[in-house]
Amino acid sequence: MHTLNLGILAHVDAGKTSLTERLLFEAGAIPELGSVDAGTTRTDSMDVERRRGITVRTNVASFTVGDVQVNLIDTPGHSDFIAEVERSLAALDAAVLVVSAVEGVQPQTVVLWRVLRRLGVPVAIFINKIDRRGAAPGWALAEIGRRLAAGSGARMLPLTDVAAAGSSGAVATPIPLTHPAAIDVLASGDDRLLRAALEEPGVTAAMALRSARKQVGCGAVVPVTAGSALTGAGVPGLLATLPRLMPWAQAATRALSAVIYKIEHGDRGTLAHCRLFGGELRVRDRVGTADARAEVITSLERSTPHGWTKASVARPGDVVRMRGLGAARTGGWVGEAIPGRVTRQFPAPALESVVEPVDPARRGRLFSALKELAEADPLINLRVDEERGEIAVSLYGEVQKEVIADLLAGQFGVAVAFRPTVTVHIERIAGTGSAVARITEKTTPYLATLGFRVERAPAGSGLVCDLEVERGSMPPAFFAATWEGVRAGLAQGLSGWAIPDARVVLTHTGYWPRQSAMHQKFNKNISSVGADFRYLAPVLIHEALRQARTAVCEPVETFHLEIPARALPAVTSTIARLSGLITGTSAVAGAVLARGDAPKPPRTTAVVALTGTLPTRSVQSLLAQLPEQTSGEGVFTSEVTHYTPVAGAPPARPRIGPDPLNREEWFRARPR
Ligand code: GDP
Repeated sequence: MHTLNLGILAHVDAGKTSLTERLLFEAGAIPELGSVDAGTTRTDSMDVERRRGITVRTNVASFTVGDVQVNLIDTPGHSDFIAEVERSLAALDAAVLVVSAVEGVQPQTVVLWRVLRRLGVPVAIFINKIDRRGAAPGWALAEIGRRLAAGSGARMLPLTDVAAAGSSGAVATPIPLTHPAAIDVLASGDDRLLRAALEEPGVTAAMALRSARKQVGCGAVVPVTAGSALTGAGVPGLLATLPRLMPWAQAATRALSAVIYKIEHGDRGTLAHCRLFGGELRVRDRVGTADARAEVITSLERSTPHGWTKASVARPGDVVRMRGLGAARTGGWVGEAIPGRVTRQFPAPALESVVEPVDPARRGRLFSALKELAEADPLINLRVDEERGEIAVSLYGEVQKEVIADLLAGQFGVAVAFRPTVTVHIERIAGTGSAVARITEKTTPYLATLGFRVERAPAGSGLVCDLEVERGSMPPAFFAATWEGVRAGLAQGLSGWAIPDARVVLTHTGYWPRQSAMHQKFNKNISSVGADFRYLAPVLIHEALRQARTAVCEPVETFHLEIPARALPAVTSTIARLSGLITGTSAVAGAVLARGDAPKPPRTTAVVALTGTLPTRSVQSLLAQLPEQTSGEGVFTSEVTHYTPVAGAPPARPRIGPDPLNREEWFRARPR
C-alpha cells in the first residue's frame, strides 16, 4: 500500500470543505454526504469554521483508492494563518488547489500558489462549481494559466472536458494522458516522450503516465481537472487521477523523523499529530521532541479510512496522533528534522489584544488554558499582567481572535471576549547612559554593587552583554541574576514597550560574601543573595536609559501588491493616505485578466505589481478598501520587516509591575 499525504487549499468559499466531503464519500470512506451549508461536514470541527465557512485548524481524513491510502490533511486557508498554512505544508506530499469556475483565481489563490511553489510542494488544480450559474471553466483555466502559471515556469495539463457548464447538468469528462493535447504538454518537457510521439507506435499509456508522474513530482507540470463538489461531476475523475499522478510518500531518512503539525488539547491531555518521514514509532517508545527531552509515547493512533485507529507501529508516510509527548510543540520534530521541510522563522506578530473571560469567575481557567495553548504553539505569545489580572495575546490579524476564542470555548470551555486590537511598538536606544549603585553607599536596600553602561545596538542584534569587570569578581550565580535583571529592565522600556536591541556593559560589581564565622549560620542580613542583583539591575538599567533616551518605534511591513492597472491611481492615493510608501512599480509579465469564455470577446486588463512599505497600523484599512478599488482582484501580501520612530507624542503602554524609576515604589514592591 502506498501513502499520499494530500492537502486541499483554496480561497475562502471556493469549495474546499465540500470537495473534501465529496472525495471521502466517493471513495467510500463516509456513508453519507455532509453539507457545509447544514454544518454537518467531517473536517470543519470548529464553530468559527462553520460560521465563517473557513478552515483554520488542521484536520485529517483518510480514504483508499486502489493501492493508495490518501490522507487528506485539511489546511487553513486564511491569510491570517499563512504561518499555519506553511507549517501544515511541511507534512504534505502534494496539494490540490481549488479554484472556483465562477469567481476564478482569487487573491488568496495567488498567495497560496506562491507558498506552494516556494516550498516545492507538487500541486494539482481543481476547477470547482462547474454546475453553478455563471461558471466559465475555460475562462478559469485561462486565468490560472495567466495569473498562476505565467512566470512560475509550470505548464498546465488540462485533464477534463466540460460540457453544459453553468447548469446543474454540467458534465466533466476525463481527458486521457494519451490525448494529443496532453502529450503536447508532456512532450515539451520530456525529450524521450517527444521522440516516442514522433515514431511508431507512438506514446503508450504507461509512457505518458511515467512522464506525467515525473514532471508533476518536480513541479514542472500541474494537472488541472474540473468538476463540481456539489453534484459530484468530475470528482471520480479527480479520484482516479490524483493517486496516480501525485508523488507517494517515501522514507526520506533511516533515522526517526516526524514533523508535529498540530497539537490538540483535550480532557485526557494533549495529542500530538505527526507525519512520519523516517524510522518507526511504537507505543512505549521513548522519543526526543524539539527540545530534546525524551518522553514516552503512551498511545499511538493512525489515520485510516475508518478514522483514528490504534496502531502498534507507524511507518514513514503515516499520519499519526500520539499521547505522552508533553513537550511537543506545533512545527517541532520528533527525532531528526528534514532540512527542506523545516518551517522558516516567522516575524513576531505585531498586534495584540487583551482577552477577557465573559464570566469573571473563569479568569483562572482562562489563564491556564491560554498558557497551555501558548506552550504548545510557538505562534501564540502571551503578555501576562498578574496584578491587573490581564492577559494579552499577540496576533497576526483580526480573524485570529475568533480562532483563539473558539479554541478556548471548544477545548477548554471558557467563553471569552477581546478588547480592541493594538499595535505592538518597540523602543530603540537613542544615545548612551550609565548608572552605578555601591553596596557601601546604602542608596538602595540591596546588598549589591552594580554599574552599567547602556548603548544602542544594531536592529536585530538582540541583547549584547559585555564585561568591563573581571569574570571572577563575583560568583557566577550573581552574574546570572544580574543579566536576568537586565532582561527584565529591557522588557519594558521608558514608555513601557520592549527594547529588543541593546548593548549593556557591566562596569561595576561587588558583593558581601556569605558569613562563615564559626558557629555562625548564613545570615542574609549581611550577605548578598541573587535577588539583590536581580532587583537592583532594572533600577540602574532604567536610570541609564533615562540618560540615553529611547525612541518609540512602530512596526512597518514590506508589501507586495498586484492590482489591475486601472486601479493604480486610486490605490496609490490610498497607500499614500495610509502613510505607506511605494518603492517599486512593474507590469506583471503576461498577466492579463480576461473574463468570459472563448466565444465572447475577452475583457482584458493589464496587471501592475507594486512593492513598498506600510505601517502595520494601516494594513487592516488597506485590506478593507482593496476589494472595492480593485474589483476584488488585488493580491496583497506583507510581513513586518522593520520599525520606524513614531512621529509626535509616542504611545505608552501601561507598565506591568512597579516602575524602576520610582525608587520608593520599586523598593516597596521588591523588598529585600
Ligand atoms: P470552502 O470555504 O472553500 O471550504 O468552501 P465550502 O465547501 O464551504 O463551500 C462554499 C459554498 O459554496 C457553500 O455554500 C457550498 O455549498 C458551495 N459550493 C461548494 N462547492 C460547490 C459546487 O461545486 N457547486 C455549487 N453550486 N456550489 C458549491
